[in-house]
This record gives sequence, C-alpha cells and structure tokens, in this order.
Amino acid sequence: MIDRTDTPQESVSEETLAARQPAVALNLRGLILSLVLLSVLATLGNSLVTAYRVQRDALIDHALQSNSAYAAKVASSLSEFIHSAQNHLRYSASELGKAWGDANVMSAEAVRLQKQDADFNSIAVIDRNAKVLKAYPDTLQINGSTLSSDAIRKAIEAQRPFISPAYPSSAGNLVVFISQPVYDAAERYVGIIGGSVYLREDNALHTLISRHFQHEGTFVFVTDQDRQLLFHPDAARIGDTLGWSKTADAALRGESGSMTVRNYKGVAMLAGYAQVPGAGWAVVAQQPREVSLAPMNTLMRDVFEGMVPAALIGFVLIWFGTSLVCRPLNQLSRIARQLSAPQATEQLRHVKAWYQEAFSIRQAMLAGVQLLQAKLGRVNQQVLTDPMTGLANRRAMDEELRGLERAGRTYSVLSLDIDHFKRVNDTFGHDKGDLAIKQVAHTLQTHSRTGDLACRAGGEEFLLILPETDVASASVIAERIRQAIATSDIETVGHITASIGVATCEHLPTTAEIVLKKADECLYRAKQGGRNRVESHLSLPSGTCE
Ligand code: GH3
Ligand code: MG
Ligand code: MG
Repeated sequence: MIDRTDTPQESVSEETLAARQPAVALNLRGLILSLVLLSVLATLGNSLVTAYRVQRDALIDHALQSNSAYAAKVASSLSEFIHSAQNHLRYSASELGKAWGDANVMSAEAVRLQKQDADFNSIAVIDRNAKVLKAYPDTLQINGSTLSSDAIRKAIEAQRPFISPAYPSSAGNLVVFISQPVYDAAERYVGIIGGSVYLREDNALHTLISRHFQHEGTFVFVTDQDRQLLFHPDAARIGDTLGWSKTADAALRGESGSMTVRNYKGVAMLAGYAQVPGAGWAVVAQQPREVSLAPMNTLMRDVFEGMVPAALIGFVLIWFGTSLVCRPLNQLSRIARQLSAPQATEQLRHVKAWYQEAFSIRQAMLAGVQLLQAKLGRVNQQVLTDPMTGLANRRAMDEELRGLERAGRTYSVLSLDIDHFKRVNDTFGHDKGDLAIKQVAHTLQTHSRTGDLACRAGGEEFLLILPETDVASASVIAERIRQAIATSDIETVGHITASIGVATCEHLPTTAEIVLKKADECLYRAKQGGRNRVESHLSLPSGTCE
C-alpha cells in the first residue's frame, strides 16, 4: 500500500515556518548564559569595587590616624626637649645671677651647658646692652662684642624665657635662640643666658626627629611661628618660609588632627599635625597618598585571584545547569521545525521533559502533532480516493506504480471496462448506473489481496494492480472477477458484464506506461472479441521487457 502521509503540503508549511525565524538566531541557552554571565560579572565587579573602596578608606583612615599620632608624638618630644633646655638654662641663670660679672662662673656655666647634653651648638651670656660677656665655643670670636640681631634684642627685651624664630646669625648659620633672663642677687634684671641651635648642622633637634619618625614614606617637617622650616628631610629647604600650608596653619593655631592635602607640588598627602606646646611651633607628619595605597594593588590582586577559581567553578556549574534546562526545549524546538514529519510523534515521546514547563509543552505538541497527522491523513485519503466507490483514484494508482518501479518489483495490471454501460444509463438512469459502478468496485475489492490496489481509472473503467503476480495468475484472477460481475445481480439493473485486459511485466526494466498501454490493448481485444471476456498480453514487444 502507498504511504499516504508523504505529500508536498508538508514542505510548504516548513518553508513558512523557516521564513518566520528571526534573522539573528539567538538560542535559549546562549541567552540564559549571557544573562547569568552578565549578572556574575556585575556582582564580581561590584564586589571588587566595594572591596577596593572599603580597603582604600581603611588604609587612608589608618594612615591619617598614624600620621596624626606621629605629629603629636614629635610635638611632645620637641616640647620635652625645649622644656629640658629651658630648665638647664634656668639653673645656669640662677648660678650666674648669684655672681654676675664673675668670668669664672660665666665660663664654667657656658662650658657645662654646652657639653652637658649637646642640646645647643653654642652658649652665650649677654648683658642687657647686648654685649657678649661669654660665648662658648667662641668660634665666631664674639666675646666682648655687641650683638645687633633682632632676635637677641627681642630676647633681652622679653625679660622672660624666650624662644626666637629662626634667623640667620652674623656668621650665616640659621639659628634658633633659646634663652632665660638673669637676675642678680638684688633681683635686678642684668642680662640673659641663651643657647643657639644651628638648624643646618647636626643638633639635638635633628637627632630627635630623625631617630623616631621616618617611617613607611612618612616624613616630618617642623616650622616656627612664622612658618619658617626648622626641620625638613630635604636639608636645602630648612629656613624656607612655607607660602601656604593648611596643616601648618592649623597646627600654628593650636589645633591637632589629620587631613588630606596637596603639597606645594600638587601631590596628594595624608597629613597629621600638632603644635609644640611651649614653643608654638607646628609639626606636620605626612605621607604621599599613593604610598599609603600601595598595598591596595597586592590586596586587590589577591582578592581577584581568590575569586577566579570560584567563578570558574560557578561558570562550569551554570554551563551544565543551562544545558540540562535547555536540552528538552532544544529538542522540542528541533522537532517543532518538522512537525508534519511522520517520526515527529516518536521523537516527541523520547524527549526527556523533566520539569513542568517542558513537560506541558511536549504534551501540547504531542496532542497537536497527532491532530495534525490525523487531519493530514484524512486529507491525503481524500486526495487519493475516489469518493463514489472508495477505491483509489488515478493519482494513487500512479504513485503505486512509481513505487513498484522504484522498488524494482514485478506486477500485473488488470484493465476493466463495463460493457455497454451507456445502455445501463440510458435504460435505468444515471443513479442506477452509479449503483452498477459501485457494485463492480465492490467486486474488485473483494477479489484483491493485501498489497493489491484496486482503483477507479475514470467513468466505468477500473484498474487492478497486482504486485509480484505473473500473467497466468493475473489472468485467473481476472477471470474470477469477470465471472463474479457477470453473475451478480444488481438492483433494478439486473446483470451486467465487463471486459478485462491483462498485462504484465515479469522482466525489468520497463515502464508503467507501457504496461498500462498493453493492458488497454488487451481490453480493446476483449471488446473486439465480443465483450464479457478476459484477454491477456503474454508477451511484450522485444526491448521493453528484458
Ligand atoms: P463499451 O462496451 O464499448 O464499453 O460500451 P459503453 O457503452 O460502455 O461505452 P463507453 O465506455 O464509451 O461509455 C461509458 C459511459 O459511461 C459513458 C458515460 O455516460 C458513462 N459514465 C461515465 N462515468 C459515469 C458515472 O460516474 N456514472 C454513470 N452513471 N455513468 C457514467
Ligand atoms: Mg469505457
Ligand atoms: Mg464501457
């Protein structure tokens, strides 16, 4: 029998489906992966940025606090240094006061003070007229001379413990002068004793600051009340006056704390500041922001490297996850492109729809496919069937013959025509003629075996195709059919007869057209021979059948 579902209609619907596909073919798995990747990258990026910010703020905060503490510590050390220097000077002042003018006492105190703890580079005893009574060491040979510097004048006028701003001495040294007033035994103000700290040479100030507070790129500078640099790691800058410094200004106002500032070169600095009690100087401890944040690079690399393996494992899991989720949908989508294919139902049954949505889609598709195939089957049936007799029509017969040819199978053909059918119509009417046609069709069907195909070729003409049947067997069948028609009684019409031509092709190749033509020739001979008979074509012309 022919395959009645294989019709050209299917390719039309597939083309229509294909034409509606989007130009850029995005698949579900790609979309899910892209979205997941996007959200993973966004989360990772966000985590990295947040970690970076938190760590950066922590480092900055830490550096600011440390520098603030450094500045406070340096300020406190400087204060102690000045306090101690003042105490030493005060003691000497009282000794000098008891024997004012005694050269031995002056000499002894000056030497003792200078050698005692190296606080001062030089010591001078000066009377209230600025005359140097004793200088030690007197490298500048100022003994007996009268000094004219502003700082000395102010120290004498102050008549109290005094710390001068930095000033250049007559010998060109940059000096801070610390002094105490001297009162004689009668409590009269007679002069001062003071020590000079040479800022550009080694001194106790240098040692004090350098020893403790050069740390992790942090450096300290100290200014006097006039913003002159008393100490700076760059010795060339000592004595310079700071043009503008937020930190030094704040310290000079007596404040302490920390802030982020830009230095005179525009470099961002994390600075702490404090005032030196007793001296009024400003101490600033600062560190370039870049240096403070240097550990960030290693830290962020560690964070990133820590995240990569987890991200890779996550990605592989997501890959498998999406694969599992998408597999049934992919399979359903592939099947959906060929829904009319006969194997669609079987393929759908094999789809492992393991979750609810895929299961529902598969069930809906199965129902749809079955409906579609049933409908297609019905349509094909109609297309290939003669409506009046229910036999196959000419188209079905052509397909059957082509199928036999393709398969290389032999067959015989019976060509049957009702005798004097016009008379039946004329005598009993067209309806009774139809009845006769249906009766003959029924007879043909009842005499066909499985695999045979009975068809109505048109009008009152029929064909019976008998695969794998030789001419002798076909002639026997034709004779049975003829007899059955001749003996059957049709309502009102009574008896009718039919003539049958039999042709066969036992040797290949030949064509169906030739076999049909020969069957028609035999039928014609049967008509010519008096009708109600069977004529067979035992031998085909040479060259057509081999
Ligand atoms: P012959 O023995 O030579 O075959 O004589 P015939 O009268 O059968 O001649 P022919 O085959 O030429 O006539 C066939 C007639 O069948 C002509 C047509 O009116 C009639 N016919 C064709 N189709 C139908 C049909 O579907 N129903 C009816 N009732 N008649 C049909
Ligand atoms: Mg006819
Ligand atoms: Mg006829």
